[in-house]
Amino acid sequence: MRFSHETLPQRIRFERDGAVDAVVDELRLLGAERTMLIATRSQTELAQQVCRSAPVAIWHQEVAMHVPLEVADRARRAAETQDADVLLCIGGGSTTGLAKAVALTTGLPIVAVPTSFSGSEATNVWGITEGGAKRTGVEPRVLPRSVVYDASLLVSLPVPLSVASSLNALAHCVDSMWAPRSNPVNRMFAGEAIRSISAGTLMVVADPDDVDGREQALYGSHLAAVAFASAGSGLHHKICHVLGGMFNLPHAETHAVILPHVLAFNSPNAPDAEARIAAAFGSPSAVDGLSAFYAAIRAPSSLRSLGMPEGGIEAAVQQIVRAAPPDNPTPVVEEAVEQLVRAAWLGSRAHPHD
Ligand code: NAD
Repeated sequence: MRFSHETLPQRIRFERDGAVDAVVDELRLLGAERTMLIATRSQTELAQQVCRSAPVAIWHQEVAMHVPLEVADRARRAAETQDADVLLCIGGGSTTGLAKAVALTTGLPIVAVPTSFSGSEATNVWGITEGGAKRTGVEPRVLPRSVVYDASLLVSLPVPLSVASSLNALAHCVDSMWAPRSNPVNRMFAGEAIRSISAGTLMVVADPDDVDGREQALYGSHLAAVAFASAGSGLHHKICHVLGGMFNLPHAETHAVILPHVLAFNSPNAPDAEARIAAAFGSPSAVDGLSAFYAAIRAPSSLRSLGMPEGGIEAAVQQIVRAAPPDNPTPVVEEAVEQLVRAAWLGSRAHPHD
């Protein structure tokens, strides 16, 4: 074996109805005196409930999808002018993303309480949108110091959003199998994550109030994000990044639609990934396993239904070919990518390419 692997320094806590006390503990360990809470207005009630015992000095509720630069700048000013010493973010990936943008320039530590399966809380990746384009980067200071996971906070996440969000997490696992820094350690995390996310999501769809299912999926989404942070962005993430940036498509749903097509594209040339993913689904092949899972959870299936114009396919293909990782298992050539994106646009079934 020949590989290097880096483990990111972060404490995580899994709680069941225990987020209130855990948040107090984590803030105390960081010596927080002026905590700035970041949560969307739509999640005010949930945030109030979680930090009812925590000493919050500043409430910041302006959060927007994909962290527009002007939104990040206003949050940074609020933190600086009001002397925040710790950031507490309670919400989905957009909320965590805003806390990361503030940490990027201020160096403030973050305590994260995720309420979706995005996994952003377990990565050192930040993203900011400026002039219609999303810039991303890797920076140790944006990694939350601690994360409080409590699946009871996710029961309010509507089923279609839960499905899309958990497929975003599943995409972290699948893409980790062939991403630039993929290694046996992060592939092991990714395989276990696929098992937990798929089992948990099936339970959520069968009974949306079942906290056990949410917990399984949340645990899997943490492992998935750890794998992704370690392995880096593979072809799947590059495609979603291009499409999301060009057509302002919803993040989690775009991942959900693209994933089966990238798996079908790469699996014939990635036998180790194929075997691990198939085993995680308990299926004879990775593509069949994912396809049966998608049918059971009624996953979103076409870019067309997400609002992508057909006329945009050609320009997208060219950007994808330029952005693709050079060592992707299947060569990323224009004609094959065109087929992939068109099939995703139409919502056709993904078939392994030869
Ligand atoms: P989001 O944070 O925008 O949340 C989607 C919607 O769900 C919002 O309206 C939100 O208020 C609502 N919501 C969240 N939790 C809820 C709950 N428990 N109950 C009811 N409603 C709830 O979307 P997301 O899918 O969580 O995150 C997507 C963002 O995260 C994107 O900007 C993406 O780029 C980023 N992301 C970053 C990383 C990273 O490593 N940096 C990883 C994954 C995603």
